[in-house]
Amino acid sequence: MWDVIVVGGGNAALCSALMAREAGASVLMLEASPKKWRGGNSQHTRNLRCMHDAPQDVLVDAYPEEEYWQDLLKVTGGQTNEALARMVIRESSSCRDWMRKHGVHFQPPLSGTLHVARTNAFFMGGGKALVNAYYASAEKLGIDILYDSPVDDLEIKDGKFIAAKVGDKRYAGNACVLGCGGFESDRKWLREAWGQNELGEWPADNFLIRGTRYNMGVVLKVMMREGADTMGDPTQAHCVAIDARSPLYDGGICTRIDAVSLGIVVNREGKRFYDEGEDFWPKRYALWGRLVAMQPGQIAYSIVDVKSIGRFMPAVFENIKADTLPELASKLGLDPEVLTQTVNEFNAACQPGTFDHTIQDDCHTQGLTPEKTHWALPIEKGPFFGYPVRPGVTFTYFGLTTDEKASVFFGGKASPNMFAAGEINAGNVLGKGYTAGVGMSIGTAFGRIAGTQAAMAAQKIKEGSSHAIA
Ligand SMILES: Cc1cc2nc3c(=O)[nH]c(=O)nc-3n(C[C@H](O)[C@H](O)[C@H](O)COP(=O)(O)OP(=O)(O)OC[C@H]3O[C@@H](n4cnc5c(N)ncnc54)[C@H](O)[C@@H]3O)c2cc1C
Repeated sequence: MWDVIVVGGGNAALCSALMAREAGASVLMLEASPKKWRGGNSQHTRNLRCMHDAPQDVLVDAYPEEEYWQDLLKVTGGQTNEALARMVIRESSSCRDWMRKHGVHFQPPLSGTLHVARTNAFFMGGGKALVNAYYASAEKLGIDILYDSPVDDLEIKDGKFIAAKVGDKRYAGNACVLGCGGFESDRKWLREAWGQNELGEWPADNFLIRGTRYNMGVVLKVMMREGADTMGDPTQAHCVAIDARSPLYDGGICTRIDAVSLGIVVNREGKRFYDEGEDFWPKRYALWGRLVAMQPGQIAYSIVDVKSIGRFMPAVFENIKADTLPELASKLGLDPEVLTQTVNEFNAACQPGTFDHTIQDDCHTQGLTPEKTHWALPIEKGPFFGYPVRPGVTFTYFGLTTDEKASVFFGGKASPNMFAAGEINAGNVLGKGYTAGVGMSIGTAFGRIAGTQAAMAAQKIKEGSSHAIA
């Protein structure tokens, strides 16, 4: 019997486990993956988005609460719980010292298309180092950790957690934190959620999963069966345009194609379909997976000319290069005439301006559908480069309703001892859209709160039962 059982082994679960242990609870972590794959999607991360009112250690200038909130409001189109979002934002300003205490190091921010020097704190060694540091700290503090332990059932009575089950093993606890990710790794569930499109295709069959293969949503399904309150749209996810040649799972950060805002993107018919320069890339990159998912065959092609090379993070796979546009079209499997026409129309619509990728510049098109509203430079100077892209699902947003204490709800009533954190409750803040680094802000904020609350709940239950005995 443990005070707190933590289901999962990524950032949110680790933050919960560490906080619960620091509050004096005995803690068991059940991680589905083998040790070498521990850490879920968190092992692939690089940074977290942090509010700050003045320059702080690795962050320049200021990123006040209101600006962070407005950024979230914009990307989610209002599909966010303001109270929870603001709580996450405030927590993001004060968590770094605690993270350092548990061995996480930060590095000066990078420059490039993500424009994050001001807003995001980067982990030295990336998410892998962060996860390893937290595991080392957890071991030192005496947290019990079991790998290869995918929880496949929960014992819950009247909204109260009793035990977690892994096959025929049963782990009883006084409280529980669910930090076991979304359901993005379950391709069957994605298929059901997305259904068939008007062309008779099953779009999700062409999705790639950027991270772990272990976030199968099994516990989320168990919670649904048990009547837990859920929120969100199962088709909404952080979904990025990634190189179509990426592996099915765990391709990670390096498969992302960051050339989009510098050129144009066409579908397999050779036609543009969205404003590539709508906003800064960190506020738009997570829309592009969904945009590509809506295109026939769930494939698109990012196209730039030589001017853009060196202005975005290089792709991990070799770019497809040609001296002329018709040649590039043939190499990409597109109709050369249509692509050339699309590019010519785009070039003719580009208005004179002063290109500056660090601001929303005045280089835009006029009279084009869809317009490109910033960074629109004619694509005219060979060699030309193309990248085939597919939807890369990072994490799903459909999950458990929680409050500011990270409590799970059953029929509108907060559970006395069940809490959820990370991807499994991220949809409370992220109804749709994304802004870079907010996933780790959400998981860290809710993870830390859930751990503290679970330790308190366990203590209360223990006191209750000892009074009952007395
Ligand atoms: C390539 C990539 C890059 C990213 N970069 C960033 C970034 O730079 N900044 C940012 O903020 N966010 C980033 N994200 C998103 C970020 O990873 C998530 O928001 C965050 O890690 C979620 O943390 P989590 O603990 O909820 O989930 P995870 O880290 O995925 O952890 C879930 C854990 O639960 C375990 N699990 C699942 N099912 C079970 C079960 N039934 N029983 C037991 N254990 C189970 C899994 O094995 C895993 O360990 C990135 C994601 C990817 C894939």
